[in-house]
Amino acid sequence: MSERFQAYQIGKNDDGQRCVLTQLGDDDLMEGDVTVDVEYTTLNYKDGLALTGRSAIIRKFPLTPGIDFSGTVTASDHDGFSVGDRVILNGFGVGEVHSGGYAQKARVSGDWLVPLPEGLDTRQAMAIGTAGYTAMLSVMALEDHGIKPGDGDILVTGASGGVGSIGVALLNRLGHRVVATTGRMNEKDFLMNLGAADVLDRAGFAEKARPLGKELWCGAIDVAGGNTLANVLSQLKYGGAAAICGLAESMNLPTTVAPFILRGISMYGIDSVMAPIEKRRIAWQRLATDLDLGLLDSLSFDLDFSDLPQAAEDILDGKIRGRAVVKVP
Ligand code: NDP
Repeated sequence: MSERFQAYQIGKNDDGQRCVLTQLGDDDLMEGDVTVDVEYTTLNYKDGLALTGRSAIIRKFPLTPGIDFSGTVTASDHDGFSVGDRVILNGFGVGEVHSGGYAQKARVSGDWLVPLPEGLDTRQAMAIGTAGYTAMLSVMALEDHGIKPGDGDILVTGASGGVGSIGVALLNRLGHRVVATTGRMNEKDFLMNLGAADVLDRAGFAEKARPLGKELWCGAIDVAGGNTLANVLSQLKYGGAAAICGLAESMNLPTTVAPFILRGISMYGIDSVMAPIEKRRIAWQRLATDLDLGLLDSLSFDLDFSDLPQAAEDILDGKIRGRAVVKVP
């Protein structure tokens, strides 16, 4: 009989979905050509939605949640990976339709795995997590647009959250002047320490946007959507761009075509889940070199594996600052 391992499992019945911490065996692992001993996982906004069932993130039952993890390969039939390799997984439907990181073991396709870049350990990889990797994809989109240090201020919304906080740290390290917005002005010092040159109360972005506002930002990373994003778009400078990655405020976007047709602005959609593997490798390599890893301690905190269900409620209620790192027991 195979060795049992600990895992969260979400089941569903007529009353809805229910999450339990249980023991599984190798037979419960899903299909895949690489088996990984999971060392660290984390808690993303999407994991919060999945664990609480507040949104239909999980589409196959029973399933182990957790959209990302880092760990060591223990078995592989994949050409790219051997036993002992350190790996990172983000997305590709893991934690949604394929069992994920909230377990001591995971079996996945090797095509989904990124080798742990030199300079990062498995704990740091999950202090960064999908949120940090999404922040890097957002920075890359702004760079591809042509935005360079010295071009002007870059706005980052939801700055005390996972994507936002790493976005601020990355942009500052790369030489940009970063302005952060937050609903938690008591986190101003935290955001300044990460590298924000200025911190604005997000209340100033909450009202319905005018078609065109004062031109303030050469670029933006937005995790909020809704009125916040509409206001950001109306304040982009001529030719500016926004990397759009989240819906923490709303799925809606109550904007007009005015900033697009009168100021030539652009919006770049950021998707971390199905991003091509080559792009992921570049993003993770750059995280290992372009992020001040010394900041990860202030950006992240340890969360006990057994506290994941409560923390899932907290992240949806905006009570989590920075990145939760979960050591899988
Ligand atoms: P967090 O919960 O860590 O951060 C979200 C932040 O958004 C909060 O900390 C808060 O920051 C801000 N916020 C919360 N509510 C509102 C509101 N009503 N209006 C404006 N701002 C608000 O989540 P993550 O950083 O992990 O994820 C952020 C968003 O990005 C989520 O919507 C998530 O689903 C999405 N995402 C998308 C990915 C992709 O592939 N596109 C990948 C990863 C995440 P503050 O208190 O500082 O204002």
